[in-house]
Amino acid sequence: MSNDTIFSKIISKQIPADIIYEDENTLAFKDINPQAPFHALIIPKIAIATINDINASNSHLVGELYVTAAKLAKQFGFAQDGYRVVMNCNEHGGQTVYHIHLHMLAGIEMGWPPYQNTKKEQS
Ligand code: 5GP
Repeated sequence: MSNDTIFSKIISKQIPADIIYEDENTLAFKDINPQAPFHALIIPKIAIATINDINASNSHLVGELYVTAAKLAKQFGFAQDGYRVVMNCNEHGGQTVYHIHLHMLAGIEMGWPPYQNTKKEQS
């Protein structure tokens, strides 16, 4: 099965994105459909489909995603006020692009818990 998603095309610059950070292993760009005043996606340059596919040999990349998040928080001035970092997994988690990514949401005080916005009422 191919691991190619729209994010592979963003990594290879085949399609445009508002890229705000890039290093050897990670890339960050603005979400096309922002859910907060600041909404970036932070991805590994190597495709890992879901959290279920993280293992001992690729887990260092997940740490690097958080290092990039911390850099962006400082760069864009959110480190002190705070922000939210989320990774969705599969259908119930709301995942739509099967290349792991951190959502970084900032610029507004957010509510908790997030399941107040569930798609379906649970019986
Ligand atoms: P997920 O639902 O998988 O957790 O998040 C996927 C995110 O990717 C969504 O927030 C969606 O708006 C964003 N997205 C999907 N396609 C594109 C694209 O082509 N460019 C950008 N910048 N974001 C995208």
